[in-house]
Amino acid sequence: MPVLVASDLDRTLIYSAAALALTMPDARAPRLLCVEVHESRPLSYMTETAAQLLTDLGDAAVFVPTTTRTRKQYQRINLPGPEPKYAICANGGHLLVDGVSDPDWHAQVQASLAEQCAPLAEVQDHLMASASPAWVRKHRIAEDLFAYLVVERELLPEEWVKELAVWAENRGWTVSLQGRKIYAVPKPLTKSAAMHEVARRAGAELTLAAGDSLLDADLLLAADRGWRPGHGELADAEWTAPAISALPERGVLAGERILREFLKATRTEAP
Ligand SMILES: [Mg+2]
Repeated sequence: MPVLVASDLDRTLIYSAAALALTMPDARAPRLLCVEVHESRPLSYMTETAAQLLTDLGDAAVFVPTTTRTRKQYQRINLPGPEPKYAICANGGHLLVDGVSDPDWHAQVQASLAEQCAPLAEVQDHLMASASPAWVRKHRIAEDLFAYLVVERELLPEEWVKELAVWAENRGWTVSLQGRKIYAVPKPLTKSAAMHEVARRAGAELTLAAGDSLLDADLLLAADRGWRPGHGELADAEWTAPAISALPERGVLAGERILREFLKATRTEAP
């Protein structure tokens, strides 16, 4: 029976230059591998050691990249190791099988959203009306499923984020602040639902997960074992649960540690 490893990508396995959080002297910094180029510029990295660990993991387990990114944003990432059979994009809204979105899964997700939470248009209108151009750089809609803003973090009023979270909660939506992005995501749109579906299809007996943000909490709770890094929304909230290990590492070294833990658990706890 295979082991399924569902992992968030950004700030869990891959890191932008701003998120690396390297603290050692430059001469002792780990060698980095660029795994994403955007508009001809390097954007995301992992350590070379992490790249080898991910390659080993891809051979030992069903590795499922599990991201809030749109399909387009996901597909420009060039991860080391064997091509994953499954990938979860748009926070669970798209389940890619051999790189192609499964239409049945997407239809099922859309039906549950229509039934269980306020429509995207209402949230979009609220964001347009309440977010100030003084600190919003971009309004974005992702895959017609959820919305996010790119903001100037230093100018962003904390109170506004709190008010938005309460407003959204009452409409069946969740708010997550990650770096320069504020996400508004429907509560029924989850990484965990998509992970359960992949686990069913792959016949997985053991599920492992990792993530750093509030949008990963349901994924971590749904897995048999989970890890979170020492940085990010979950760490800031000191969030934990019985099957979750809170790691001390921050930044790109946390990514390396998480992959080490995935491999160790895959090799020792495989059913
Ligand atoms: Mg993340």
